[in-house]
Amino acid sequence: MYKVVLLGEFHKSGKELLKKNKINLVEILDNDSDYLKQALVDCDGIGIRTSNLTEEILSSCLNLKIVARHGVGYDNVDIDYLNQKRIPLAVTGKSNAVSVAEHVITLFLSISRRIIDSHNLVKNGDFSKKNLIKKTVEIFNKKILIIGYGRIGKEVAKRLSSFDCKILIYDPYVENKITDISPHTFVDLQTGLKEADFITIHIPLSVDTTNLISKSEFSLMKNDAILINTSRGGIVNEEDLKMALDEEKILGAGLDVFSKEPPDINDTILSAKNIIFTPHNSALTIECRSRMSIETAENILNHLQNKTNVDNIVNKHVL
Ligand code: NAD
Repeated sequence: MYKVVLLGEFHKSGKELLKKNKINLVEILDNDSDYLKQALVDCDGIGIRTSNLTEEILSSCLNLKIVARHGVGYDNVDIDYLNQKRIPLAVTGKSNAVSVAEHVITLFLSISRRIIDSHNLVKNGDFSKKNLIKKTVEIFNKKILIIGYGRIGKEVAKRLSSFDCKILIYDPYVENKITDISPHTFVDLQTGLKEADFITIHIPLSVDTTNLISKSEFSLMKNDAILINTSRGGIVNEEDLKMALDEEKILGAGLDVFSKEPPDINDTILSAKNIIFTPHNSALTIECRSRMSIETAENILNHLQNKTNVDNIVNKHVL
């Protein structure tokens, strides 16, 4: 009987699937590395949410055959170690693109229509002072820059197309530049940043993408630009973002992800002007939690049953 450890809270749907397939299922909520080293020593598969799977922890696993991330980002797993040991790392590629895309649209509209400020006016008895909210804008006829045209970027483009806006895409790794979304244009980053009214980021965090959007990029943006980051903290330099907002270099921003999660309560980004925060929950709809839990379980089961879903494996070369 295979032993699978789920690290963190998983929706019951995935757990039921594992049990139905006669897996010895162990659930762990404790992140203490000494405890994990002991608990994982004989497991065949690990399903993981946000805890860190370091080389120190992974090297204590003597039977490990697969690690499956609940989500698509995997910067909390030491993939170099897995590569070295030829252990595949799976992600839930199909599950969360739609949920994140809907969250992006929510943030675009909440910021452009100043929903939080408007709500507070009504709540505070200032209904008649609606003219205090000076600038609300539409998406109609605007240019939207999507940075990263992968699973999520494509779902964002699909949803935006009904707003009658022009979609610009920056993704140097896309080979087929003909997409089903029209009208749209592939651009270089500088052109996109200069022309866009709305910007949304959907790329992985890496050495290349850390601080991709910093002071010099903000200086290219329109004063009316609205920037959303739901990808990973660290891609947008938060100090530079605060400066751009406070000096009204850009109009607004939305962050679902932070360079440090959770951010310190005194973190200066939290006091920036016209910004909306969400606690890294853009993929945490009820529907998506269930889909991600099932897909994590399927990724583990398929691999243990020699039916690996290669599409979901990040380090395909180890198979
Ligand atoms: P994906 O792998 O399908 O797409 C990523 C795209 O980024 C690819 O098309 C790739 O070519 C492009 N890319 C890579 N480096 C680039 C660069 N330097 N410049 C421009 N484009 C670049 O991934 P996805 O499923 O669309 O997810 C994107 C990111 O969103 C993930 O890496 C993850 O960190 C993040 N994410 C966040 C949440 C959340 O809860 N906030 C949920 C899911 C995913």
